[in-house]
Amino acid sequence: MIGELARPVKYLTGVGPKRSELYERMDVHTVYDLLYHFPRYYIDMNEPQTIRDAPLNETVVLKGRIVRKLPEAPIRRGLSVYKAVFTDDTADLTIVIYNAGFVFKSLEVGHEYYLVGKLSGNMIRREISSPQIYPVRDTDPVQPVYRLTEGLTQKQLRMNMHSALEALDGFVYEPLPADVMRENGLCSLSYAMQNVHFPVDMHTLELAKNRLVFDELLTLAMGMLMMKSRSREKAGCVMKNESVDEYYEALPFELTKGQRNAIEDCIKDMQQEHPMNRLIQGDVGSGKTAVAAGAAYFAYKNGFQTALMAPTEILAGQHYETLNAFLEPLGVKVVLLTGSLTQKKKEKVKEGIAAGEYAVVVGTHALVQKSTEFDRLGLVITDEQHRFGVEQRAMLAGKGDNPHKLVMSATPIPRTLALMIYGDLDISVLKELPKGRQPVETYAVTGKLRERAFGFVKQHLDEGRQGYIVCPMIEESDSDLQDVKSYAKQLSEGFFKDYRVGLLHGKLAPDKKEKVMKKFKEHEIDLLVSTTVVEVGVDVPNAAIMLIENADRFGLSQLHQLRGRVGRGQYKSSCILVTDNPTDEVVQRLKILSKCHDGFEISQEDLKLRGPGDFFGSRQHGLPKLKIADMSQDMDVLVRAQGTAKEILSRDPELAAGENSGLKELVERLFEQNVSND
Ligand code: ADP
Ligand code: MG
Repeated sequence: MIGELARPVKYLTGVGPKRSELYERMDVHTVYDLLYHFPRYYIDMNEPQTIRDAPLNETVVLKGRIVRKLPEAPIRRGLSVYKAVFTDDTADLTIVIYNAGFVFKSLEVGHEYYLVGKLSGNMIRREISSPQIYPVRDTDPVQPVYRLTEGLTQKQLRMNMHSALEALDGFVYEPLPADVMRENGLCSLSYAMQNVHFPVDMHTLELAKNRLVFDELLTLAMGMLMMKSRSREKAGCVMKNESVDEYYEALPFELTKGQRNAIEDCIKDMQQEHPMNRLIQGDVGSGKTAVAAGAAYFAYKNGFQTALMAPTEILAGQHYETLNAFLEPLGVKVVLLTGSLTQKKKEKVKEGIAAGEYAVVVGTHALVQKSTEFDRLGLVITDEQHRFGVEQRAMLAGKGDNPHKLVMSATPIPRTLALMIYGDLDISVLKELPKGRQPVETYAVTGKLRERAFGFVKQHLDEGRQGYIVCPMIEESDSDLQDVKSYAKQLSEGFFKDYRVGLLHGKLAPDKKEKVMKKFKEHEIDLLVSTTVVEVGVDVPNAAIMLIENADRFGLSQLHQLRGRVGRGQYKSSCILVTDNPTDEVVQRLKILSKCHDGFEISQEDLKLRGPGDFFGSRQHGLPKLKIADMSQDMDVLVRAQGTAKEILSRDPELAAGENSGLKELVERLFEQNVSND
């Protein structure tokens, strides 16, 4: 479809083998790639400032004419200074050019030019040194500025881009169906391309961007939906409307409104003929487990089993305890199935599951091993879904008779992203925290105050509380592990030698991990030095203080998750973020956490500051890199694109129709590039 555009850039006029190597370095291989190498920003010549009012020492755009050229002034051998007087009728200034005689010679007195550069001097005598100079007569009024590589200049790239645009003009290439363009008020692709690179003014740029952002988000939405629909089952296990009032009454607390609504959502979903596909999104401590238990109880009342999967043994164990506490009094049998059970025990549990003896099965992914047979699996709940591998999810989905699915996430993914990642998942949000929770007081300090911070931790331990010290293990490498170990040793033999210090990291064998965690829960350990394995869900109400080392290395959302480990009981809790890298940016970022305790807000900030690519620390969410859309900004377009994608796919699920072939190609491109990037 894209025919000629698929040709290597070197066939463009003005691009030879040598320059095409430079393009290769920027991942630009074809003419098509070049067209999608969008400007980083633009210099708008349409609204030049006046020399009189232009600020000093900032990049400004001026428009005026050369009044007079001064004689060349050699400074020393090989270095000349050229000067010219320039006016825009509000004031004059002196252009200063070092050495570039050819630039100077090309300037003509009386002609109009744009200057881009920084003014220096004072109100009376203004100078601009080595500005970019463009003759007004043959200059695009808005200049694109591109990401470059060494050896390539803006001017060259702009010229090549003009050639690429000519190639695009040479034949009609329009991937969007006409009705989609009409309904969304979009300009044509060739207009968009022309104007994203060389807009006449900011308005045409806007039009162009709208179109390209829409394309990108539509493509993304479509790809995600297509992946999903391929695994979408038809009928599920339809349930009847049974009351769960006993559950509400048996709970030791009153559910929040959000929790109640979420359970009602699930109950409604599970009565539909399509399986439920719902995400419960709730900040740390918002009480997602109680929602899960409610849904499980509803399945139980309908005679179905529920499986709950957690990413770690620790969490599985904890969920088991919670669910058991909530459900056992109601006569529901809950069982824990993890990899660390003895072979014999495992066999026995599995027999019980197959016989339908247990209504709720909690476990790690060992649970999904082929050998586990359920009697009547009706509901599958996963905690922290994005931590699971894709295969594991798929395998679980294949169990039973198309069970209903409930996903719990404590990562408060901004809705924009959730829509993308989870596609057609329905979402219930737990907005408020249970009553009586106090926010975790959060301080950011530099390494200089480390000793004092340790003292503060000690104070808590002396009051009978427990604490965490978290250090990042960025690489998961042996040397990082060594660092963590020796750090823990230092603490336990030094500052905290009078306390019981434990160490927890991801490289410990599961049963060892379990042991450490159990000791911490039972207060046989006062201070737990840990990597981020404590990040999710671990619940020790007596823990009231957390210190996080190298806090600058974490994303805000992750820090927020981490601090959610404290403040879970009745004690006032604190979190100290330590950084040895207190740049303005870092300090500003960490300060957000002192002020803000809402996970959703924090995740929005994170998204703004770090971009969606970084959002989960890595690209586990499987989203391709975007070139022009910004998911933290382009929410409206995303929602529209999502709607359009659904519409198109409902008519043509595989994009087989001729009018959709352009779209199909876009989807394939985006996801192909994603795979090769990983
Ligand atoms: P998360 O959403 O982080 O998984 P949990 O489900 O672990 O949160 O709940 C955190 C704690 O709050 C648990 O001890 C749980 O029993 C308690 N909890 C849950 N809901 C409520 C509520 N409505 N009122 C009081 N406490 C609650
Ligand atoms: Mg949880």
